[in-house]
Amino acid sequence: MRILVCNDDGIYSPGIVALAEVAAEFGTVRIVAPNVEQSSMGHAITASRPLSYRTTPIGAFEAYRVNGTPADCVALGAHMWDKVNLVLSGCNLGLNLGNSIWHSGTLAAAKQAALLGIRGVAFSAPSGIEVFDAIKPWMRKALEVLIPQRELCLVNVNLPREPRGLIWTRVSVRLYDGVIVPTTDPLGRDLYWFSVKPLEGAEEGTDRWAVEQQWVSMTPLRLDLTDEAQLARCREQRPLDEQLAATVSPPKSSPEAAKKVAEEEAASPIGSRAT
Ligand code: MN
Repeated sequence: MRILVCNDDGIYSPGIVALAEVAAEFGTVRIVAPNVEQSSMGHAITASRPLSYRTTPIGAFEAYRVNGTPADCVALGAHMWDKVNLVLSGCNLGLNLGNSIWHSGTLAAAKQAALLGIRGVAFSAPSGIEVFDAIKPWMRKALEVLIPQRELCLVNVNLPREPRGLIWTRVSVRLYDGVIVPTTDPLGRDLYWFSVKPLEGAEEGTDRWAVEQQWVSMTPLRLDLTDEAQLARCREQRPLDEQLAATVSPPKSSPEAAKKVAEEEAASPIGSRAT
């Protein structure tokens, strides 16, 4: 099994070595990771400049550093290495619970894998942990559970400091932990930190609740964000032109129609249009 290991803390993070060492028990490992920290970059990709892919010594592992985001690393890593079976991301120095799934570069690497049709698993641990000896057996247990579960395409794993066991969880998004904190620069000018505040009262069965209770949290995720219940309700209560569209439009668009939309999706720099 070919296992591509990525992260968002940068290729020189102790967390990526710990994860790569555990991964090596399950298959052949290659590390492709950002050359500098990319935490909270989410699923950004680098579309306005080319990327470099440079070999770099990380323990005994074949490893490459990329001047891009976690998603860039997975896309480039999968391009440079045929038939990757699994992408592991982390182990992040900091938990990725609840709404963090929207900001996390760690999870974005696993999401990028899922977009490419490769299974992806993200691992995060409490910040402050730099020695992973106590965590590694739990990463191993998680992989022993997850690897045989072939239908699981994308999983977010969070490890508490002293795990008691593993449980399946859902995402806790009822409360948001982002907060703006005003500050000033040395000249007294206004600046603002986008920071986090502690949340209380996580719901039972969620990722946050699990880690509060010292369980390893494993959350199966999906890429399709469609709100199925609302879609069905809207189609029922406020039908639009669906019936007309079904009558006049073929079930499958022509290649020309697909090409035109693809061209319109491509970003163009302002001012590039011929006048
Ligand atoms: Mn990080």
